[in-house]
Amino acid sequence: MVRILIMLLAFSGSLYAADPEIEIISDKEFAFDIDGSRVSVEIRDRVLRSKKDMLLDWVLYCTKAVQKYYGRFPVKSVHINLMVAAGDKVRFGRAFGGETPYVRIDVGEDINPEMLRRDWILVHEMVHLAMANVPPAQAWLLEGLATYVESIARAQHGHLSEEQIWRYFIERMPQGLPQEGDRGLDLTPTWGRTYWGGAIFCMLADIEIRKLTDNRKSLRDALRGVLDAGLSMHADTTAMQVFEAGDRATGVAVLVPLYRKMKADPFPVDLDALWASLGVTLENQQVVYNDEAPMAHIRKRLLKS
Ligand SMILES: [Zn+2]
Repeated sequence: MVRILIMLLAFSGSLYAADPEIEIISDKEFAFDIDGSRVSVEIRDRVLRSKKDMLLDWVLYCTKAVQKYYGRFPVKSVHINLMVAAGDKVRFGRAFGGETPYVRIDVGEDINPEMLRRDWILVHEMVHLAMANVPPAQAWLLEGLATYVESIARAQHGHLSEEQIWRYFIERMPQGLPQEGDRGLDLTPTWGRTYWGGAIFCMLADIEIRKLTDNRKSLRDALRGVLDAGLSMHADTTAMQVFEAGDRATGVAVLVPLYRKMKADPFPVDLDALWASLGVTLENQQVVYNDEAPMAHIRKRLLKS
């Protein structure tokens, strides 16, 4: 009986890789290694430090979602500084590049596990680590990726349900559509075009790569190729170099032609028609699926791999 139990434990151990061990560097600094990358976490505030186990669990949980999406953690090392703020939410984040990338996150002193589970900010900032610095005209690429990939990576890792994602996209994505007088993404640096216009670019690219590869490849493969080309937040580059590296990785020309279409022209997208062809719509505030829709197979795969 004991022997069977040991065998079962050994088997489950091989299915689920153990979480990395947290090292205590000092009373204010902690660290862990994941896939050869070093993640250090600084918590100077006394109240936040009293919740360090919960906070370190959350950092690890977010790190794993990003690592799973990119197939590795995107940079060799990152220093995460958790600063105290008022309230019970994660309130603000910012990522900085360079030799040792740095992420600042403001966390409410009344934070609890439920609010940490709901947080999107840390994954958003970690997605920034996976893209090189591009000129300010292409800030939409950085924020669009962080907005879109944050959702997809969290869904693929089980942080968010399918229904939550589609409701979020259907309700929020229209904010990225061109308004009267808007030009292309490179020429319209408004909040909506930067975050959600960039996210529309990413979603269109994801769908098109899947269409052209019979659902075998996706934006995720393109972005892994961008990392393979050395274009993480350690580096400076141009948007065109990013798109060329992504297209090389998938073997289909999607990112470069889409960028040419969207950079200077408004390029309105009929989102309602797109949702219908993916077979997902909102009816009376309920997410409704149609598996007979022409791209239902793409929609089903999108949140899985
Ligand atoms: Zn951002």
